[in-house]
Amino acid sequence: AAAAPATATRTTCPYCGVGCGVLASVDKTGVARVAGDPSHPSNFGRLCSKGSALGETLGLEGRLLHPLRRSQGDGFERLSWDAALDAVAAGFKRIVDRHGPDAVAFYLSGQLLTEDYYVANKLMKGFIGSANVDTNSRLCMASAVAGHKRAFGADAVPGCYEDLDAADLIVLVGSNAAWCHPVLFQRIMRNREARGAQLVVIDTRRTATAESADLFLRIMPGSDQALFSGLLVHLAESGVIDSDHIERRTTGFEAALAQARRIAPSIAAAAVSAGLPETEVAAFFDMFARTARVVTAFSQGVNQSAQGTDKVNAIINCHLATGRIGKLGSSPFSLTGQPNAMGGREVGGLANSLAAHMGFEPESVDRVRRFWNAPRIAEREGLKAVAMFEAVARGDIKALWIVGSNPAASLPDADAARGALQKLELLVVSDNVRSNDTINSGAHLLLPAQAWGEKNGTVTNSERRISRQRAFLSPPGETRPDWAIFSDVARRMGFPGFDFRSAACVFREHAALSAFENAGKRDFDLGGLAELSDDAYDALEPTQWPIRPGESAGRSRLFGEGAFNTPDGRARFVAPEKPTLASALTADYPLRLNTGRVRDQWHSMTRTGTSPRLARHAPEPFVEINPKDAKAAGVEQNGFARVVTAHGSCVLRAIVTERQPTGHLFAPIHWTDETSAQARVGALVPPCVDPISGQPESKAAPAAIAPC
Ligand code: SF4
Repeated sequence: AAAAPATATRTTCPYCGVGCGVLASVDKTGVARVAGDPSHPSNFGRLCSKGSALGETLGLEGRLLHPLRRSQGDGFERLSWDAALDAVAAGFKRIVDRHGPDAVAFYLSGQLLTEDYYVANKLMKGFIGSANVDTNSRLCMASAVAGHKRAFGADAVPGCYEDLDAADLIVLVGSNAAWCHPVLFQRIMRNREARGAQLVVIDTRRTATAESADLFLRIMPGSDQALFSGLLVHLAESGVIDSDHIERRTTGFEAALAQARRIAPSIAAAAVSAGLPETEVAAFFDMFARTARVVTAFSQGVNQSAQGTDKVNAIINCHLATGRIGKLGSSPFSLTGQPNAMGGREVGGLANSLAAHMGFEPESVDRVRRFWNAPRIAEREGLKAVAMFEAVARGDIKALWIVGSNPAASLPDADAARGALQKLELLVVSDNVRSNDTINSGAHLLLPAQAWGEKNGTVTNSERRISRQRAFLSPPGETRPDWAIFSDVARRMGFPGFDFRSAACVFREHAALSAFENAGKRDFDLGGLAELSDDAYDALEPTQWPIRPGESAGRSRLFGEGAFNTPDGRARFVAPEKPTLASALTADYPLRLNTGRVRDQWHSMTRTGTSPRLARHAPEPFVEINPKDAKAAGVEQNGFARVVTAHGSCVLRAIVTERQPTGHLFAPIHWTDETSAQARVGALVPPCVDPISGQPESKAAPAAIAPC
């Protein structure tokens, strides 16, 4: 990317949860220039391949520029914004009047800005009266949310990126950070070079991240909590635990340790469960035990599991037992996938939360009801993503508004999701693109939303840092901000409290709600930003929450001292269930399919797919297979192979590689029917979810492969 001029707009990358600051501008010839923002504390000017190619992805080809309504057959006709908004409001109102509020739902996206998420959530939960608001972030980090709540009493990430600079040992679990969080991975590598920090990578496949590790543990799928249970036992038996910390600040240690002993009573037992040599497990346990400053960072390999929440808590248990939490260089750390999964969590973008990190306990419902003046507010949790689409398939949900997401490609059992969409009485899609698998599954109304570079608002990254996304391009066609579209529909449905003039107005209300009646006492508190002027909002510097009333700066770390957010102020050890996978292998499906990302693509390639430079890295959909499995199946290097599960099939280019262990396949998630026929990997994934977080098990589908 060319260097941005001094007049560049300071904004934030729209891809991963690292949340890098970007300087963006348009030169005299109309070409967008993008560079890293040296003043942003999350990336200090660095960008990865995706971020530095942003300027190449801003063309208007394929953009949805005007409201459209399905006409005869598969065609669409243009209509005015007034007519489109009237149709959405009337459609939702009609179905709510006939069938009740739970007959409608919103499915949102971690790509949305916090202000968009806030207004959507207020409309559905506050005024329509259902909590059927969920998001594609459910597929990404819901297990981390649930694990945080169980351990800390709140969905609060204890550490920050500076801890990755200061740690002496960094353990990456289920994370290909070199590809999926590249700027953070560079930070880890600099710590390694400058300070000699050690890197342990725990994963089921040898990734680019694993290649850089001092110790790589290639574990069996689903065995994470066996490994971390064994580690807890080892820490206890080695006398490394911090008894004072456990005594003063936690509860449940003995029960968690007893369960850990049942799961993995020794190094040898942990090694057997994880499918590892005992010497490797012993080496990891020894490194963890003798290093005071440890960050254990985890990502989708942990979260995307039917036991994801238990895995998260097994990791947190080891940090609570050693008092290594919320201190410089010491913390469990969730690496968030999407740019604003955290912001969505903050405003209640998940069906099991209300707003400002509040749940559906009666006092929270009452507080939000009074703040919003919303007598019909939802009083119980709504349906999480997979359950929401199952309700659509049953006909229980009759109207669905999907915003900035493509669930017909990305949900587990995606063919079933696509079929379900076709049953809806009303399917509204707000998006940047004119066509995708979801739109082509029978959408009735298309609403053109502003894209990155055109819209204004905030996002929150993995270290709780709120940064501004700022516009530097004129919105094309009739595109509008999502928060404004939701506000207009709310007003047309007759609801008060949606007279927002700007993103700044929405942000102020969100911040005020976070501090309403119990300022200074809650985990998520933006009271210090509740009275920002429009100018101050425009100039808002990247800031970590909480920012309590009267404060102008947030906190880098949480829980290093003082109370946790549980009723008694103590953190909770959690005893995990014994490790298991949701679906067993069978004679028909003898292999395990893992799904994930490639370095230079993002989600369903809507933006990254438009850059030829990015496409060169992985130009077509593929499946990786071990040479032994390839030989047994008759699959040849670079030949086409059909991958089949109980839920669907795909045709993918075969890459025969020792990176994959025997018995295991890997296929990336990015391709859709729009970009490559028969390559929607979501169709292969079973709809098995973690019973606590609702997050699907996307990395262990029983599968078969054959040449084609
Ligand atoms: Fe964007 Fe993530 Fe790359 Fe940073 S690391 S430039 S946020 S994709």
